[in-house]
Amino acid sequence: MGLHPIHTSKSYHDKDELGPEGNEFTSREEVFDYDFYKKLASDPKVLAIGECGLDYYRLEPETAAKQKESFIAQIELALELGKPLMLHIRNAYGEALEILRARPGARGDVHFFAGTWDEAREFLDLGFTLSFTGVITFARDYDEIIRNTPLDMILSETDCPYVAPAPFRGKRNEPSYVSEVVKKIAEIKNLDFEICRTALLQNALSFANIH
Ligand SMILES: [Zn+2]
Repeated sequence: MGLHPIHTSKSYHDKDELGPEGNEFTSREEVFDYDFYKKLASDPKVLAIGECGLDYYRLEPETAAKQKESFIAQIELALELGKPLMLHIRNAYGEALEILRARPGARGDVHFFAGTWDEAREFLDLGFTLSFTGVITFARDYDEIIRNTPLDMILSETDCPYVAPAPFRGKRNEPSYVSEVVKKIAEIKNLDFEICRTALLQNALSFANIH
């Protein structure tokens, strides 16, 4: 649980941004209340802090500062509680890396990774896993990153209801479609599906500290 960067100020999100599966909305403006979130996040059922991070897709001048402040507070909360971060970073990998580098010990996953190999390598060096969505089933931009990333540093996800994988493009995405993402990771890394599936499942359990 956490405060998503787009909710730190009032911001409008339309289908251009969300894709055909998303409904347009205006986010509420919320301030990250550390003590309130700490109380909630202390519950053992809370596995991670997030999605939190930076989203500069539609950057308004005063929003970056608010996003950064709330992101840093959530990194501190994750460190205090010993829980991983689930990062949502859009068009802001450089700044997010700078913030994380200054806070050693923070760990977690970069959800919906959509950066370059250089950025990927920097997150991996900090010990963050990268997670990939259905995008990898219809765009070839991430093949090299997936090939270069050690299998134990990859997570699979859907980000449903957005970005349904092939062959379900144009439909509402569903959690069960994650199997298409796993299949594609196995194909790109030239691995047996079952070996890849078992490894990715183990990665998800390790991320959430479930043994
Ligand atoms: Zn997200």
